[in-house]
Amino acid sequence: MSSPTIKEMTDLCHAIARSKGFWDDPRNTGEALMLVVTELAEAMEAHRKQDAANFREELADTFIRLFDLCGGMGVDIEAEILRKCEKNKLRPYKHGKIC
Ligand SMILES: [Mg+2]
Repeated sequence: MSSPTIKEMTDLCHAIARSKGFWDDPRNTGEALMLVVTELAEAMEAHRKQDAANFREELADTFIRLFDLCGGMGVDIEAEILRKCEKNKLRPYKHGKIC
């Protein structure tokens, strides 16, 4: 059995969120983005508490919220990540920053 693609994970996360009613009304994009940030803050807090299991779970929450948002907005994040990785390969060492 192969691992799901990012596109499949996006579709899954969005389908679950939609089934739970989170898309019954139009989403506020700014609020949705900040909810991704709150998951990162939760991961930071778990890291501070040296709670490795919760840290991993909060990282998962971060991706789940982001994949859901991408699914809801029709963003092919898999294609965007691949496109940006190719762009980053061409950037200079440390992206040209001195410090
Ligand atoms: Mg969380």
